[in-house]
Amino acid sequence: MPKKNKRKKQFFQGGFKDIEYSDVKGSLHSHGGWSDYRNKDEQKKFPFDLRVFAEYCIKHGRDFQAITDIMASRPGELEFIEKRYDALLNTANAKDNNYEVERNKTESTIYFPKEKSKLIIPRTQEVLTDVHFKHILAIGAEKNIRGGRNAVDTLKEIKDSGGYSILDHTFMCDAWHEEEVRNLYEDKLIIATEWNGGLTFPAICGYFPIKFFIKTPNKRSNKRVISLEEECEIPCIANDDSHCSFDIQKGAFTSYWNWDKDISFIENIINSINSNNFERHENYSSFFSPLMHVKYGKESQKIFGKKGLPNA
Ligand SMILES: [Zn+2]
Ligand SMILES: [Zn+2]
Repeated sequence: MPKKNKRKKQFFQGGFKDIEYSDVKGSLHSHGGWSDYRNKDEQKKFPFDLRVFAEYCIKHGRDFQAITDIMASRPGELEFIEKRYDALLNTANAKDNNYEVERNKTESTIYFPKEKSKLIIPRTQEVLTDVHFKHILAIGAEKNIRGGRNAVDTLKEIKDSGGYSILDHTFMCDAWHEEEVRNLYEDKLIIATEWNGGLTFPAICGYFPIKFFIKTPNKRSNKRVISLEEECEIPCIANDDSHCSFDIQKGAFTSYWNWDKDISFIENIINSINSNNFERHENYSSFFSPLMHVKYGKESQKIFGKKGLPNA
């Protein structure tokens, strides 16, 4: 197994916003908490609102929590470009002086001056390719990466546009094979694989009505990414792939600690991965999460259109 570097005390500072980090915890793959829960109680508890989202993530120990936009294209259908990141940031209330927002394309920061806390929200993209479950998590790419195309072409485009790629839920449904992943890593088209903490995924989509989308464990995929890390030193990071608020509360995340205050958040994450200065927290969301999905199993149609989200 590749030896993880010892955690160093490296602090991240940022002006008034002098909040120091010795290690930075969060998930780069997160659909927020609104994909699957759509009942009235849940809407009250976890409305689609930037402040609620940021406070919730901070309360549950996250320093950052990505909002992952899905980029998809189904055969014969129009391209699907999700704008959840922008939609969430648009809920910022300028009259609310409890927080301040520093917004940009690849990540935004929400500051709570009184509490001296902040949350970074990276915008990541989950690009669905032309092969079922070959999904690619794009980090730091400013432009939208089109879905529904060849996976290698997609990886090249992400790299050309200044982004970085992670193969999320790597071996789910045998989407990739070990040799392919090794080659992509050697060709520098990917920087890591993903240990996916979503207990669940919609395996039977297309055959049953949405309310019966049951998600099942992806533990086999996670075993395989760990083996690949041990045998081939391909870094593997953990993400919650959250589809409901409970996934953020209980799900997987990674600590990163190779931090240099003079470079961007994304570059620091990438440096931490490349130099092995990170640690996975391999949590699965609650065992009851699938039941909750069944109970409340409606997609976010109200906010994101009639069809809701493609499954990602
Ligand atoms: Zn996916
Ligand atoms: Zn996802």
